Amino acid sequence: MLVVQKYGGTSVGDIEKIKNVARRVAQTKDKGNDVVVVVSAMAGETDRLIGLAQQLAEIPDEREMDLLLSSGERVSAALLAIALKAMGYKARSFTGRQAGFITDEAHTKARIKRIEAKNILEALKRGEIAVVAGFQGVSELSHDVTTLGRGGSDTTAVALAAALNADVCEIYTDVTGVFTADPRIVPNARKIEKICFEEMLEMASAGAKVLQVRSVEIGMKYGIPIHVRSTFSEEEGTMVVPFSKEMEEVLVSAVTYDKNQARITFIDVPDRPGIAASIFRPIADANINVDMIVQNVSHEGLTDLSFTVARTDLPKAVQVVEEVVKEIGAKGYTTEDRIAKVSIIGVGMRSHPGVAAKMFETLAKEGINILMISTSEIKVSCVIDEKYTELAVRALHDAFNLGEG
Ligand code: ADP
Ligand code: ASP
Ligand code: MG
Repeated sequence: MLVVQKYGGTSVGDIEKIKNVARRVAQTKDKGNDVVVVVSAMAGETDRLIGLAQQLAEIPDEREMDLLLSSGERVSAALLAIALKAMGYKARSFTGRQAGFITDEAHTKARIKRIEAKNILEALKRGEIAVVAGFQGVSELSHDVTTLGRGGSDTTAVALAAALNADVCEIYTDVTGVFTADPRIVPNARKIEKICFEEMLEMASAGAKVLQVRSVEIGMKYGIPIHVRSTFSEEEGTMVVPFSKEMEEVLVSAVTYDKNQARITFIDVPDRPGIAASIFRPIADANINVDMIVQNVSHEGLTDLSFTVARTDLPKAVQVVEEVVKEIGAKGYTTEDRIAKVSIIGVGMRSHPGVAAKMFETLAKEGINILMISTSEIKVSCVIDEKYTELAVRALHDAFNLGEG
């Protein structure tokens, strides 16, 4: 079998943990498998590097950030290869470029265009364990180092599994699988044995950090089953697989939250055709993702327009917004960054009305005000004051009976 394994930041957090990972990788190799390992930066390292850059510039240059942040994963890859070699195994570490990850030019959020896996395939042919630095690649046109966005090592692993036609992609992390809610804030959250790609995709995009959104998209597109499991136990984890009939019964499968949220509101925008385009085109051109958008009913030709972006993108978004306000003749803008998004997800809600209403009632009962709402076929999201996040998640988890026992 060809096995791709990915170990997250906590799993390689110190030297003892790297030794533990080396032992697990070695076991997999000993069973006769070909093994490709993707590693994240050591726990806290990416944040530490961001902190250093922010002491030098309010909005650090994104090209330079990518070179800086890619170093974290390189350290882990080299250390793991050193550990494996010290144990007597053949191993070789690779940067994203050496592993053949060609991306677009979007620094800090690059997308993989293709993987030229020649070096990895040759290493496997020589019987080596290939250790790949996650979260990075090289841009197709400018040949610069790029990174794949926070949590991007998951995407490195799943994309590599697809490119190599691996039999399985295992994501090793610090929880035993995908739960009905973040087990760190909901103590009675239940581990989900099997979840379909569609639900996992909504969960990831609604803030469940356990898999990066892009990794789930790629898994879904290429039919790569993803096994999310713990680095620190032998317990079976969660299988992320294509949708099957028995899953349909579940009305709501999970509650998620995302604190990486900020809201921008344009005040007194002239309500005429083309205004939304003149606001959102420059934001898109700055490579900022917009999530929810709400435009109010207009009064005397003027309206307010609010939208949400990742809080980490807010400083960059504000730069763009200041220009746009002048251009379109709006009165001004406001920003809020102490907000969070809570979501409920389930394929069953497609065919059952009343799920959203129950969510709103549950939040109301806790005295939590809803600032914005958005829905998809299998998700309802509410933006609330950040300070109520944990309360909201626990209340929703109880209201939809997701807990154990
Ligand atoms: P890694 O460093 O291994 O990539 P992450 O911190 O990126 O790990 O993701 C794992 C974390 O995701 C867990 O520690 C947990 O707190 C969080 N998480 C959020 N929602 C969920 C969920 N529904 N199920 C499991 N973990 C979740
Ligand atoms: N080290 C990167 C991050 O912290 C990528 C990853 O861990 O997947 O976001
Ligand atoms: Mg992660």
